[in-house]
Amino acid sequence: MSALPDVSELQLLFALLNNEHFGGEIPAHRIAYNGRFSNLAGRITYKPPLIELSPKHFEQHPEALRDTLLHEMIHAWLFARGENPGHTAGFKKKMREVGLRSIYHDLGSAAPKRESTKRFILRCERCTMELLRKRRPPALVSCGRCSRRNYDPRFQLRVYEVVGLREVEAETRAAHRIGR
Ligand SMILES: [Zn+2]
Ligand SMILES: [Zn+2]
Repeated sequence: MSALPDVSELQLLFALLNNEHFGGEIPAHRIAYNGRFSNLAGRITYKPPLIELSPKHFEQHPEALRDTLLHEMIHAWLFARGENPGHTAGFKKKMREVGLRSIYHDLGSAAPKRESTKRFILRCERCTMELLRKRRPPALVSCGRCSRRNYDPRFQLRVYEVVGLREVEAETRAAHRIGR
């Protein structure tokens, strides 16, 4: 069984890729594994900047980890430059420059089932509960699981804004199609 790189190794890889392909322009991001992902390979949020990777997915596909990190970094780079951080023409141009062949691994033109229609994540850092929202919440909110009080500042939910998601399921479906 292959051991996943730990978070400090991921930070080192991030720094190396940042220097190699982005002139060091990408601001620091927290990088974390999120064991709750069931059909996502990776996810990037900004405010606060965070890249999350699926440990389940990369235990099975360790070779894909670097490319997924690089993919999320292109989103981060575009965002840092004030450009649209989505899968734009600029995204695809940069993708080719850094040597990534397709957005979804070897999927060719297969589209993801959903490219983050919900833009905000509210997360309790204590119990890791997550809520998805289309709009930024209007006021401070706290975790209803951790405290029943109307608003409890001890369990305030952090708000993350989603830039991009990487679907695992789409990849699997397309792989089946190609294999037949
Ligand atoms: Zn909670
Ligand atoms: Zn993406």
